[in-house]
Amino acid sequence: MSSTPLQSATPRAPATAAVRAGIESDGQFGAIVPPLHLSANFSFAALGERRTYDYTRSGNPTRDLFGAALAELEGGAGAVVTSSGMSAVRLVLELVPRSGLVVAPHDGYGGTFRLLKALERQGALTLELLDFADGPAFERVLARGPSQVWIESPSNPLLRLVDISATAARARDAGALVVVDNTFLSPLLQRPLDLGAHIAVHSTTKYLNGHSDIVGGAVVCRAAELVEQLTWWANCTGVTGAPFDAWLALRGLRTLDVRLTRQQENARVLAHRLLASPAVSRVHYPGLDNHPQFELAQRQQRGPGAMLSFELEGGRDAAARFAKGLAHISLAESLGGVETLLAHPATMTHAAMTPEAQARAGIGPGLLRLSVGIEHTLDLEADLSRALERAT
Ligand SMILES: *Cc1c(COP(=O)(O)O)cnc(C)c1O
Repeated sequence: MSSTPLQSATPRAPATAAVRAGIESDGQFGAIVPPLHLSANFSFAALGERRTYDYTRSGNPTRDLFGAALAELEGGAGAVVTSSGMSAVRLVLELVPRSGLVVAPHDGYGGTFRLLKALERQGALTLELLDFADGPAFERVLARGPSQVWIESPSNPLLRLVDISATAARARDAGALVVVDNTFLSPLLQRPLDLGAHIAVHSTTKYLNGHSDIVGGAVVCRAAELVEQLTWWANCTGVTGAPFDAWLALRGLRTLDVRLTRQQENARVLAHRLLASPAVSRVHYPGLDNHPQFELAQRQQRGPGAMLSFELEGGRDAAARFAKGLAHISLAESLGGVETLLAHPATMTHAAMTPEAQARAGIGPGLLRLSVGIEHTLDLEADLSRALERAT
């Protein structure tokens, strides 16, 4: 099986759980760091005597250690570790009955949007894209008996929040499976299962691994029954993750707490620097008290996270001048790594959207997104100040 919950008997803080995941679990040599089991297959002890594992698509000890760590951090019964965030999303969608209704945020992750649209075109599901802030629209769609309700909070790239507790409660009452994509915060900053979701989905490519050197995903479920179903599907469709990726992600996970602490500290400084600049018309960051959902962020999240976006007065030209000549910040997609990345959503992460759809979603030509890393604060601040001068 792809998921063996190895929760520790003694309760421990999440930071400790992340560090200790799989430490000293090696019965053969007492290795401190868990060994990497690359083997595709495992021998039977005798005819009809299957050991814990038989074939790595179905189950692998290294991958299970990572899954158990994520299950503990999210407070779930177990996890399925997948080959990418998108295969994690796809896996959960296996549970939608033919032409069943899926409700998803209108400003959700582009890859998820593309997949949902493609499945809708195939007639595999019925899709309703929604602004969860629109209460009456949400009630109307709930009356149609959705199979799944997907939530992303905070959203990309405008860092808008959804009240997960309230939304999940209404969706649960309507009989829907509630899924939260928790990629932007990680379980150290937000625990969707505690807030009433059935499933938390991750692109482990991002904060969980944190070093931009794997692509991976995970699904964590509150109920063991759901873990079992999804484990079955993951083996059936072959979307389980590679052992080496799981091993790297487990290594990355150990430093998640210190990374996030430093990333949030840097993000706070940069957000205030941006706020003070006349070249910037708006800063979107849940850690600023001018964020329209600052109070919700305080209640729902254990920290504001390290993603932020901002709008330059000068539009696309200003964004181009800002991006050209950065010393410590790379212009690149993706997020959650130790290195600071700048993205221009209109031409990069959200380029697949039509200009009208971009405008509706509030993605203007002068909007830039930062995934803040762990570099020295003063270097980042200086880089940002020089970029703002260019953009003015
Ligand atoms: C990156 C991302 C995904 C997709 O993950 P991959 O690992 O790139 O397949 C899904 N959701 C969110 C919020 C993401 O940022």
